Amino acid sequence: MPVSDPEKIAIVEARVLNKLVCRNCGALNPPGAKKCRRCKSKNLRPKKKGSGFKK
Ligand SMILES: [Zn+2]
Repeated sequence: MPVSDPEKIAIVEARVLNKLVCRNCGALNPPGAKKCRRCKSKNLRPKKKGSGFKK
């Protein structure tokens, strides 16, 4: 079921994208993480906007 309400989309987008992705192993980490929970690497990047999210 497609979501058409722009307010809901904004909320979901913010929640989905508010994550850190490890450049070393690709694990998702919580937004406040200083290092990866799987491999302890500090090489984290914020999850990119607009990737894999369907409107
Ligand atoms: Zn990692």
